[in-house]
Amino acid sequence: MVRGAVRRDILQPKGAASPRKDSDRLNLQSRTDITPTLRIIPRDQHIISRKNISKAALRVLYRLNEAGYAAYLVGGAVRDLLLGLQPKDFDVATSATPDEVKKLFRNCRLIGRRFRLAHVVFGPEIIEVATFRGLGEAGGEGDRHIIDGRIVRDNIWGTIEEDAVRRDFRVNAMYYDISDFSVRDYVGGMQDLEDRMLRLIGDPDIRYHEDPVRMLRAARLAAKLGMRIDAAAMAPFETLGPLLADAAPARLFDESLKMFLSGNGLRSFRMLEQSGLLKFLFPATARALKRGDEALRSLVEHGLANTDARIAEGKSVTPAFLFAVLLWGEVRDVAHGAIARGQDSTEAWARAAAQVVGEQCQRVAIPRRFTFTMEEIWSLQPRFEQIQRKRVFRLMTHPRFRAAFDFLLLRADESPAMRELGQWWAHAQQLPQDVLAAALPAGGGNDPVVASAPAKPPRPRRRRRRPGDKSGSV
Ligand code: ATP
Ligand code: MG
Repeated sequence: MVRGAVRRDILQPKGAASPRKDSDRLNLQSRTDITPTLRIIPRDQHIISRKNISKAALRVLYRLNEAGYAAYLVGGAVRDLLLGLQPKDFDVATSATPDEVKKLFRNCRLIGRRFRLAHVVFGPEIIEVATFRGLGEAGGEGDRHIIDGRIVRDNIWGTIEEDAVRRDFRVNAMYYDISDFSVRDYVGGMQDLEDRMLRLIGDPDIRYHEDPVRMLRAARLAAKLGMRIDAAAMAPFETLGPLLADAAPARLFDESLKMFLSGNGLRSFRMLEQSGLLKFLFPATARALKRGDEALRSLVEHGLANTDARIAEGKSVTPAFLFAVLLWGEVRDVAHGAIARGQDSTEAWARAAAQVVGEQCQRVAIPRRFTFTMEEIWSLQPRFEQIQRKRVFRLMTHPRFRAAFDFLLLRADESPAMRELGQWWAHAQQLPQDVLAAALPAGGGNDPVVASAPAKPPRPRRRRRRPGDKSGSV
């Protein structure tokens, strides 16, 4: 397999007998070199209250428990509750197998082949119920599959201790026990929460080989939780970052949305950049920023800050606008380069968009419905510079006008001329149609009148754009 060959080139330690065997050994080691040491934190020594746990999750926990199975709230929910945050979802870990879970809940469906899970559905809420995963032996009994150190299937059941050590970060391996409301901490997660430090469970090198997306999770969680990434967990990013090229693009799309559309987009972006991971996920963005364009950085940061502000206000956001912002620098530069070489403007923009989107989608599978909108937002940008009566009215009635205009406002960071152009269009939209029409030149021929033409409407009052302004809507 080509992928395997590439991976072995990079990763295979010298002298290893066979890649498969060696990585299996490494993997086993990662699961056994940690000795879980249980610390039980009783109810009166932690802040988790059932008031803050979803009713649906509580019902699942109680039902499993009454049926004689061990049942715990686990992972991000426990971590977030201990930090005083409201969890985004509630995951349950249990000793019951997926089939046993299914027998207990009518509203349950089993999902996943590579990682079998039960989903218990309560209207819009889904409680994910996972059976404790065990160590097992790779290649031995059970259903675990490892290819070149990467876990591609993990369906061996085990004990809670085994389940704890196969999780990614120590803060993610704490269990809230519904039978006595205590928190069970097997690998020092409480300590890490106090230190505000994300530490991996086990050897970072091995854990990232098993699943390179853990590197992105480190950056995302550090940004979300305001924690630092432990030096040992950060050190392999540069050498192992290329493994992200082998991660499923659809999964990287989901992970990107979690990073940028969960209210911590700006912090996630900065963390990705600081940690050196950005270039593995968004190579074009990293390249454009590296060309030293401070205006572009400011545009991207404003775009992300606006998106975060919209999320905080409960407004809608769309991945299309976000990705249009992230990839803009590269699209713009490629299009401008082609135009400078004499290519027709419309064609240059279309080709630049197709090229940049094509490259990005090899990493992050952005669905077509979003790339289509991105391409429209970009291709409408040069049309804002054509201030002729017919063209202005045609642009204003374009279905993607609003998004493209919001994007234009973001581009105020690019130059004073761009800021003026944004202000012109903001003002133009507020004028009655006949007043606007009278103020605009009729134009005609092949010579579009640009925004600086003398016949522009009265100048709007100057207004500084702040994060939280309305860019970002589509
Ligand atoms: P959030 O829900 O805030 O995004 P989370 O940590 O809950 O963060 P989930 O994707 O919901 O993330 O995963 C739930 C739990 O499953 C994690 O806390 C962790 O214990 C475990 N987990 C998730 N992804 C991995 C992974 N790639 N490797 C090992 N364990 C993982
Ligand atoms: Mg979660």
